[in-house]
Amino acid sequence: MFAPVYLDWNATTPLDPLVRAAMLPWLDSRFGNASSRHEYGRQARSAIDEARARVAAAVGAHATEVIFTSCGSEANNLFIKGAAALMKPGLLAISAIEHPCVREPAKQLRRGGWALREIAVDAAGRIAGDDWKAVLDARPTLVSVMLANNETGVLQDIAALADDAKTAGAWFHSDAVQALGKIPVDFRTLGVHAMTLSAHKIGGPLGAGALVIDKRIELAPLIAGGGQERGLRSGTENVAAIVGFGVACERATARLEDEARRLAGLRDRLEAGLVASGMRIFSVEAPRLPNTTFFAADGFDGETLVAKLDRAGFACASGSACSSANPEPSHTLLAMGVERDVARGAVRVSLGRDTSMADVEGFLAAFERLTNELNKLTAMAVQS
Ligand code: PLP
Repeated sequence: MFAPVYLDWNATTPLDPLVRAAMLPWLDSRFGNASSRHEYGRQARSAIDEARARVAAAVGAHATEVIFTSCGSEANNLFIKGAAALMKPGLLAISAIEHPCVREPAKQLRRGGWALREIAVDAAGRIAGDDWKAVLDARPTLVSVMLANNETGVLQDIAALADDAKTAGAWFHSDAVQALGKIPVDFRTLGVHAMTLSAHKIGGPLGAGALVIDKRIELAPLIAGGGQERGLRSGTENVAAIVGFGVACERATARLEDEARRLAGLRDRLEAGLVASGMRIFSVEAPRLPNTTFFAADGFDGETLVAKLDRAGFACASGSACSSANPEPSHTLLAMGVERDVARGAVRVSLGRDTSMADVEGFLAAFERLTNELNKLTAMAVQS
């Protein structure tokens, strides 16, 4: 199979070979329902317990604080809907740049009588201090702000925001899906009540996520049944995926520092090349993930560029992969005040453990060739 250079690591990642090796027995000879009271069940239970300890250790949490889910989207839904279900309707505040799996459940709560407020971001994509103060004055009950944005890579000062929210009496949740494995993520240092993780963004399998949650917070489950995961997520556990998630967490955090430095070097070279081609890089003023570049140029269409890059052998994204069926420009860029025409040209390149300098140089050469071609076509169309 023709394999384009993969530059879309924020969308998903290939399975880490050691993760695969740890999972394989659980897709083959080892099996068991972790609730069964026999040897097969006990072995499955102990594999899950081991994975839970690994996930907890990766984020400085206690194993009892980790609730396994099927994905990050489910964990975000579990916190927002599960917390709201046990409260009387109040004010839910989310940042204006959240992933759809926070925005959509938030809209569902609004239909159920909750007030919903989006916290504004500044031109760099960071929470706007004045709007945050106004939100706190409005006495929110629940707040959700992502640690790292999937499109721009912008990091928020979650520890400070969580501290403010707690003082105001709110429960604070953070979606840490894009941060895990790219920057240090520590549940206690962040000081949040709950945070969301996902396995497939860090070399783990699809089909596993987690909500890390302070045990004092009560939630209503989205899926009721046999009472697995402390009654918060019924359903027979996906042992292979959970085992893979545990090993992926261990691997991603063990090599984090060196890998972050290496990726930042590649990212800087990529951005220098893009700027030389006249591209505008979003959020350079803000602290960002080391692997993510979101850029655009006036007059280009992001979807067209991504399709042409794909044909040239480079897989990247226009806006967020999860919303690429949606022709609307990135809501993150619009929230940052970027003009619609510029936002329509946005392309995201996200790097990962297999990305090399040769990949970056190859991408830049292909990109320059393609944009020159497009410029020539535009010039011809104007003349004719
Ligand atoms: N949150 C963020 C910031 C994401 O980027 C994604 C996936 O792209 C998710 C949540 C959803 O995670 P999952 O794909 O595991 O449902």
